[in-house]
Amino acid sequence: DRGQSRPPSTNCVIDHGIRCFFLFLLQVLLVFAKEDSQSNGFCWACEKANFRCSMARTPESALECFSEKHHDLVIIDHRHSRHFDAEALCRVCHVDVSVLTCAHFLRPDREEASVMPLINAGFNRRYVENANMMACYNELLQLEHGEVRAQFKLRAGNAIFTALEQSQEAIEITSEDQIIQYVNPAYESIMGYQQGELIGKEIIEVPKSEKNKPDLLETINSCIRKGKEWQGIYYAKKKNGDITYVTWLKCLGETAVCVCLDSSCEINFQTSDTQDAFLSFFFFSPESGSSQRRHSSMARIHSMTIEAPITKVINIINAAQESSPMPVAEALDRVLEILRTTELYSPQLGTKDEDPHTNDLVGGLMTDGLRRLSGNEYIFSTKQPHHIPSHLTTPLSLNDIPPRIAQTMENEDSWDFDIFNLEAATIKRPLTYLGLKIFSRFGVCEFLNCPEATLRSWLQVIEANYHSSNSYHNSTHAADVLHATAYFLCKERVKQSLDPTDEVAALIAATVHDVDHPGRTNSFLCNAGSELAILYNDTAVLESHHAALAFQITTRDDKCNIFKNIERNEYRTLRQAIIDMVLATEMTKHFEHVNKFVNSINKPLAALEENGVSILTSPENRILVKRMLIKCADISNPCRPQELCIEWAGRISEEYFAQTDEEKRQGLPVVMPVFDRNTCSIPKSQISFIDYFITDMFDAWDAFADLPNLMQHLDNNFKYWKGLDERKLHSLRPPPE
Ligand code: AMP
Ligand code: ZN
Repeated sequence: DRGQSRPPSTNCVIDHGIRCFFLFLLQVLLVFAKEDSQSNGFCWACEKANFRCSMARTPESALECFSEKHHDLVIIDHRHSRHFDAEALCRVCHVDVSVLTCAHFLRPDREEASVMPLINAGFNRRYVENANMMACYNELLQLEHGEVRAQFKLRAGNAIFTALEQSQEAIEITSEDQIIQYVNPAYESIMGYQQGELIGKEIIEVPKSEKNKPDLLETINSCIRKGKEWQGIYYAKKKNGDITYVTWLKCLGETAVCVCLDSSCEINFQTSDTQDAFLSFFFFSPESGSSQRRHSSMARIHSMTIEAPITKVINIINAAQESSPMPVAEALDRVLEILRTTELYSPQLGTKDEDPHTNDLVGGLMTDGLRRLSGNEYIFSTKQPHHIPSHLTTPLSLNDIPPRIAQTMENEDSWDFDIFNLEAATIKRPLTYLGLKIFSRFGVCEFLNCPEATLRSWLQVIEANYHSSNSYHNSTHAADVLHATAYFLCKERVKQSLDPTDEVAALIAATVHDVDHPGRTNSFLCNAGSELAILYNDTAVLESHHAALAFQITTRDDKCNIFKNIERNEYRTLRQAIIDMVLATEMTKHFEHVNKFVNSINKPLAALEENGVSILTSPENRILVKRMLIKCADISNPCRPQELCIEWAGRISEEYFAQTDEEKRQGLPVVMPVFDRNTCSIPKSQISFIDYFITDMFDAWDAFADLPNLMQHLDNNFKYWKGLDERKLHSLRPPPE
């Protein structure tokens, strides 16, 4: 088989061109006046070589046949010149097409003469008569691999250059040592140069953008020399100095294939037969023009001046990859993969072997109903927000707080303050009383320029909109979070960082942060298709509701509108800060907030010798501090004195149990199956909660705000739960001795 006997194909681009352009079989025209052993030999050889062969006996029929088929190879018998003028025929054929190889015969008995007249006529080869079939076959193979192939290369080259000339892409061809060999008309018009100014010059002489690394071309070339693919950004500069395009170039040196990445492309190819025939094709896209829209989009993206920080990071890494050794570049590829995801701050939890308590807590608190399976309707009462209950409308000011209540609040500035005492003393209205005391301690009324009566009404109406029927998310939890917030606001670092507006916003946010909480998680509401989930598109449903309702309640009635007397701009600033903090309590963003705090505040502060006031007071960082502050206040119960911590654990567990009960009753998906009152190990659930959400967060917050007592409590409480768990106890407390 002729195909198999061929030498292995080269990577030469012309071969590639030949494969693409001339996939049909070689066509041979044999012009022999008479049939003889020689003509038979060539017929046989054509068949063996798998060429298509036509036979002509006269010059007329030869020309007719040739003008129809445009053979690649014409073999003219010149032994019997009396039959026809072989030279004239050859001349005619050559005039007609550029790709032609003609062979001419010489009888062995004839005397040697100059081949010049033959060459002038267009013959490429002379064959001394030999009818041996193998000799004919070998001659054909030599012609194919020599003259015919050379003609094909020429033809492919012509085709390529015709394409280059017509192309709207700017194309530059350089030698391996960066000498410009060719630029096409599009290059001239886009780049503003004339061919003559460039050809023969080193590419280096063309003023280049300083944006490219000095060794960029060398990097590209060495890459291609190794047969590797190169991909990256190439900046080009017009004659007038403008940096015109940012171009993605991609080349596959080995296979001489050019891959165009939307905006533009580069071909770099290398002939295997001549190592020095090294061509670099740079294709640039023009900046604008509707026909170039496809090309410019990518360039626009890469030349954007208003880049998102993540885009800058990705671009920096891309650039660093260009000059990095392979293992580093590959590692950076993995980094880029991660950076391109949106969930940068959420650890990816394996679902299989993880502790079920952690799984359920994470699923229940962090997925926002992603496990939603049913569209069951769960309609919350469409009641209007609560108004102040009549028994609480009695005038109330700091001065006339009943002594028993005042007494329970005496140590409200201590971390160990017992909120449950206050809850009992106030008949489940701790928020109003503690609010009055704390807000007055921070001078909130003065700041807001609002009468104490307005604040009182506001606290009462907010508290009235907490559900006292919830075991955990009731106004005692809000009062507890307010207490923790006030405590944190007194810490030195926090005071250095936040301004009075921040402080007031934090106190208000803590007060309202769970208002009208239904005692069910976001996941539950989404699964149940609740009105709230529908209103807020299953996104931060509860937190959006708390913030929105808080402002509705506040601004609905002048009597309780604590913002009534502040300036519009001040109101906007305060409102924004409050909303941001309430939304920050959403657990789906837990790790985002904690990690941002650690990266932007803990780490830079740790790296500094002095106090780092600028880190503390920049607007972006103040936002992070406020978010962290309210988050820590919100889930500070594991850091409370043991008895309080146990009570909170009992309350949250009971609320979860009630949710599981209802999910079962209603046939809804059970969001946190471990919180089943019949089987749940509360110690285990607390260990998981602390491990997963609390430890890292409070480590970071302690590093910032210095909270040794909280950390001590946390440690004790963790040990307490561990102790119960080791005794295989599921309850809140050990059984009595
Ligand atoms: P929030 O709803 O604003 O109070 O957000 C805090 C989240 O943490 C809530 O979803 C609580 O259910 C959860 N949480 C708070 N304390 C605990 C605890 N001790 N154990 C388990 N989950 C808790
Ligand atoms: Zn809360």
